[in-house]
Amino acid sequence: MSTDDILQRLEELRAHDLPTHGGRTLAYVYDSGLADADELGKRALAMYASTNGLDPTAFPSLLAMEKDLVAFARPLLHGSDDVVGSVTSGGTESILLAVQAARDARPGTTAPVMIVPTTIHAAFTKAAHYFGVERISIDVDPTTKRADPAAMAAAMDTYGERVVLVAASAPSYAHGVVDPIGAIGAETQRRGLRLHVDACIGGWVLPWAERLGHPVEPWDFRVPGVTSISADLHKYAYTPKGVSLLLHATPDLRRSQFFASADWPGYTMLNATTQSTKSGGPLAAAWAVVSLIGDAGYLDLVRTTLDGTAALVAGIDEQEHVRLVTRPDSSLVTLETDASCDVFTISDEMLARGWFVQPQMSFRDMPASLHLTVCAATAPAVPEFLTALAESVAAAVTAGPIAVDDGLRAAAVSIDPATLDDEAFDGLLALAGLGSGTGEVTVPERMAPVNALLDVAPPALREALLIAFLDRLSR
Ligand SMILES: *Cc1c(COP(=O)(O)O)cnc(C)c1O
Repeated sequence: MSTDDILQRLEELRAHDLPTHGGRTLAYVYDSGLADADELGKRALAMYASTNGLDPTAFPSLLAMEKDLVAFARPLLHGSDDVVGSVTSGGTESILLAVQAARDARPGTTAPVMIVPTTIHAAFTKAAHYFGVERISIDVDPTTKRADPAAMAAAMDTYGERVVLVAASAPSYAHGVVDPIGAIGAETQRRGLRLHVDACIGGWVLPWAERLGHPVEPWDFRVPGVTSISADLHKYAYTPKGVSLLLHATPDLRRSQFFASADWPGYTMLNATTQSTKSGGPLAAAWAVVSLIGDAGYLDLVRTTLDGTAALVAGIDEQEHVRLVTRPDSSLVTLETDASCDVFTISDEMLARGWFVQPQMSFRDMPASLHLTVCAATAPAVPEFLTALAESVAAAVTAGPIAVDDGLRAAAVSIDPATLDDEAFDGLLALAGLGSGTGEVTVPERMAPVNALLDVAPPALREALLIAFLDRLSR
């Protein structure tokens, strides 16, 4: 293909994606609205695309930029000079490494566990799965959705020597509330346990929110007992994708994160993170964008974002049939509906109006909800958003809540996914509206019927069905 044809094809392919800019996609992407920062990030990404973080002595530029980013974050998160950090590829990798480092710091532990609130990110479940550390999920306060320090402390005692890590969120992704880190830290410190704070989404918002006078309970390295923090730069630092920070309170706490292998005839492999060969592009882009926006720039962006969030909350409070699940502590807003409509239909209606809002399925006693991540570029569009929401809710009320057939509901509850073969999955995917029954899958334009059905499926069946879907989608 010629260069022109290839570029044209790349443009065409992108046409089917969600927009990354403009503030109308309220999950997955983050838009500062700063064209110069975006442009600079792209240039730095390209300049460093072929560098290799495999060996920091061969590419000292990457080590220097990593140290600069850690140095930027350290005072922001009230860390002492002892705080050290690694740049990872994203929040999930930061969390994986926090769990792996905690497990490997306690080598003799049989059946290790981590104590976390139910609301902590699914990346901890993935870490549990990868590293054989059981996730013990403790119910959160039913009203505030914040972690329950007393119940977590009781679990620390129940599991005793088996506990290698305790973690909580600042804020949680699903509800946007900051867990009581101070109270949890008091419990972990007393027992000599590690405490990881997942500030993947809040780490680049809360420090400035506090300076702007918003009420923010201490959650960072100021809190006695906090041993590590994850903060994603590819979220509210508005850098290109592929960058997160994992910070440890001391070098000692980080050591078990590192991996070396001399057990082969090639170079001695020496890695700080999960990847070995890794592009320096995202790191350079993050260094460039953070250097350009800087402390004062982030203060402005957070002010804009939180003013936008407040306007959004006030507008939602005035609308019928939808309400906030809880008051947000940061820039994440979660909605639920009354019985006259459902969140899945509202999500489809919003998409038809050019807005992406993210459905969250019901979980235990929490009904299905809609997640909205507000970023700086969303703020000026809040009035338009509220108009679209009012129209979408009205349409959803007219349509009425989606009813799942009783027979299907009963079947969903009784199916054991472990007993299903490929053919059975094909049949179920077709029933769910995701396939033809012959192994081909499709993504329907309106997702509400699919989501409503998935929502009544027990989590294990939903997971198995979606894995079967992904398997077919990517064949
Ligand atoms: C986004 C997020 C993660 C996972 O990060 P990825 O960058 O998507 O891997 C973990 N925790 C929280 C609170 C998040 O918001």
